[in-house]
Amino acid sequence: MKLLSACCAVLFLLPFQAQAWSNHSMGSSLALAPLPGMSDESIEVESLERFLTAEEQELQVLLDEQEAFARAHFDGYPERPDSLRWQPGAPDRKSAFLQALRINPEIRLAYFIQALPGVLPGQRQRLEASAVTVSRQLSMWNDWRFYGVSEGEKLSPLAITSTAADEPDYGHDINLFSDNPGKVGALYNFGPQPFGDARFEYSSQAPFHIGYYHESPLVFAAGPFLTRTYPQWRAYQYFGLARFAFEQGHPYWGYRFLGWGLHYIQDLTQPYHSTVLPGETTAGLIWTAAKALAGFPEDKQAAIERVATRHTEVEKYQLRWLRSELATGDAQRPLLMSYINQGKDAQYPAFDYRYLRDTVAYESRQQADQFDALIGKWLVEQPTPGDFSKGNQQAAPKPDAQLQQLIIELIGHFGAHTRNAVRAVSPQP
Ligand SMILES: [Zn+2]
Repeated sequence: MKLLSACCAVLFLLPFQAQAWSNHSMGSSLALAPLPGMSDESIEVESLERFLTAEEQELQVLLDEQEAFARAHFDGYPERPDSLRWQPGAPDRKSAFLQALRINPEIRLAYFIQALPGVLPGQRQRLEASAVTVSRQLSMWNDWRFYGVSEGEKLSPLAITSTAADEPDYGHDINLFSDNPGKVGALYNFGPQPFGDARFEYSSQAPFHIGYYHESPLVFAAGPFLTRTYPQWRAYQYFGLARFAFEQGHPYWGYRFLGWGLHYIQDLTQPYHSTVLPGETTAGLIWTAAKALAGFPEDKQAAIERVATRHTEVEKYQLRWLRSELATGDAQRPLLMSYINQGKDAQYPAFDYRYLRDTVAYESRQQADQFDALIGKWLVEQPTPGDFSKGNQQAAPKPDAQLQQLIIELIGHFGAHTRNAVRAVSPQP
């Protein structure tokens, strides 16, 4: 297995996109709008400094409890070094807090909302993407609109939670490993980056946004680094902080932390986030890795490219489809209904710290091979891109009924798990 370890490390240098169903805020606003009380503009924006100052003693208790729980319940959990423990009276509270959580201390943490279905920006001032994200590739956010809000202003739980659900893609989990650029990687005890191609800015967040929880033991034996994924722990941290903030009377931070936790649940509803290489059997995976090791890397390259292309193309397609349905103004369209429909919410087990892993990731892993195959078939059906001399309007991709049906099902899971988390974590009206 040792040889395979080495070659699997090469096999899984997957490029990594930030997206899982494109924009978490948009999907969240659709999924959460039907819940009671979500649209009341009743929650006052509170600064992080004010929250941390008011709760600095109690917060130490909470974060110590979370650390003890993680050590006891999360396999292979990299312990938080004692030097990062949250201490009341820290001179720079914001930085100390982010380091106690082991997230990127460079994140913007702007006060803002996204313009979304059910969330109107009003007269607020538009913010550049650079005000909300640390990403250097700002063109990725050209399609989205951010608006600044001020302390004391009132917002709806829908606006706060949905906006926050996209935030973990704005830099929270970038450069946390010991071989990444920046200062904190050396302090955080996550070790070297387990997989992902370090040349891509976003690759270092991959082990926090994907969760390989249901691969065969053979795959894990061949590539032990594949066990080093942390979305379950991140969701546990943020949902715990959300409950704490609600209980202590800080609903703005309750909903914002809740949104951060939702991000990881939603990422895992995307089969490419729950599965090492969809469409590959265990034997095929190991054989491909062995061939690459023996000097024949073609299959390995092809598998990596196949997965990256299919993941990107299906998300682009899903977003385009969603936008076209939103443009009709008809809430009864099938993809919109799949976000909103609450029919299956109650069929899932109770929400607890294992829900992301045992329910969400398991369900998504079960459909990964079928999803990958349908995307492959759909891509083959597309006409080859024409020349651009007739103008640069790219034709809409031809739909495939089976693929559309599966996307509707998977987006139904996105909606159901989003609502189940919100029901479990936020105070119910
Ligand atoms: Zn993500």
